[in-house]
Amino acid sequence: MTASQTELICRLRELAFRRELSPEEAREMAELTFAGYREFLNPAFLRAKRGGTAHEVEWRGEGPWMISADGERFIDCLGGYGVFALGHRPKEVIAAMEQVFQRIGLYSQELLNPFQAALAGLLAELSPGNLKYTYFHCGGAESNDAAIKVARLATGRTLHISFSRAFHGKTMGSLSATNRPSIKRPFEPLVPGFVELPWNDLEAFERFMAGRGGEVASVIVEPIQGEGGINLPDDEFLPGLRRITRQYGALLHLDEVQTGLCRTGKFFAAQWWGVEPDLMTLGKALGGGVVAISAVMGTPEVWKGLEENPYYITNTFAGAQPVCAAALRALELYREMDLAEQSREKGEKFVGELRELQNRFPHLIREVRGKGLFIGVEMSSEALGKKVADLLFERRVLTANTMNNPATIRIEPPLIITEELIGEVLSRFEDALRSLSQEAA
Ligand code: PMP
Repeated sequence: MTASQTELICRLRELAFRRELSPEEAREMAELTFAGYREFLNPAFLRAKRGGTAHEVEWRGEGPWMISADGERFIDCLGGYGVFALGHRPKEVIAAMEQVFQRIGLYSQELLNPFQAALAGLLAELSPGNLKYTYFHCGGAESNDAAIKVARLATGRTLHISFSRAFHGKTMGSLSATNRPSIKRPFEPLVPGFVELPWNDLEAFERFMAGRGGEVASVIVEPIQGEGGINLPDDEFLPGLRRITRQYGALLHLDEVQTGLCRTGKFFAAQWWGVEPDLMTLGKALGGGVVAISAVMGTPEVWKGLEENPYYITNTFAGAQPVCAAALRALELYREMDLAEQSREKGEKFVGELRELQNRFPHLIREVRGKGLFIGVEMSSEALGKKVADLLFERRVLTANTMNNPATIRIEPPLIITEELIGEVLSRFEDALRSLSQEAA
């Protein structure tokens, strides 16, 4: 470590611990943060940045706002990819966690933990069908890995089906079910036994099952694809998967990591189609925007394999009492505030207005789709997708492209966003499109 590197770290931690920054300090902190990324994280992270300015360094989150080091206020329409259902720093969730922190931090892993039991109980009450048992982890990919193991245990089979453009995470197991060649190829061979079938094609699925259905442990599916581009299935698709998996004794695993917990206008997206899975995974909004927690849930039949050895899926950190207390409070708030209905109503209007924009700029917007506040705006090319995200950033709206379909811009604001603020997003979106049209003219 050189003297200047040591100096960098000391000064950066000093500034980052401050309550407030002057404009000069904000600039200095931004520069040091960029330098820290270059020196100690990965310089490649900076490639996607827009020029090394202080408004590319985050400082404060407040409800639907993300505020940068230099005080620029961004309307957060990315919502941490679905994490911030309640917005940033919801008071009640933080208070619940702080209360429990007064007596305990991480858990012993030997004594039993009351908040884990209470949280699992509330999840069982809220979740669709016969899902009853839960295990907690720290991220969606890890819970998906666990669900793959539970499916193998429960069925004694080793084949898993996932769909084109699916995203289930980046651990070796979850990546095996993710379908984007560019992020898989460098790591092959991945876990054997994964088959990709076309999304939303029930006939292809039925044909496959007619041949090899007896080998299939689980079918892993996002009820609405997120990273694939906010892709809605036809109404027959999920009920069809349910019917056919039952017919062949295969399990249906719904990955509701992104769609779950009110995002799409129902508590769980599966409820749009009345589908009851054998396994379900949750993450993102489960921690109320404050803590990292994910979960795998299963029916009693599926969980039987874990009765033989409950330690097949364990994790040191997740499910600590303050974390579970935060998640419990978040779920209670989702229910008390009827956040699903809020999402449905606001989403319907938002999509309607975006379609109006599409009518006015048909050469720029190919399609607007979504349910609740889980919205994708597909631009007419990948380059345009990236460009519009940049133009929105310039207009202080935070969005991103979907990972497996970069032409699509995702709009996933906190579900507590006001209609007034939605109006503001729409006018900035329109302004961005207008500037593109003028550029082309
Ligand atoms: N499943 C889905 C549907 C997701 O959208 C994501 C993340 N975007 C994951 C799994 C992975 O979750 P994590 O990043 O917490 O591992």
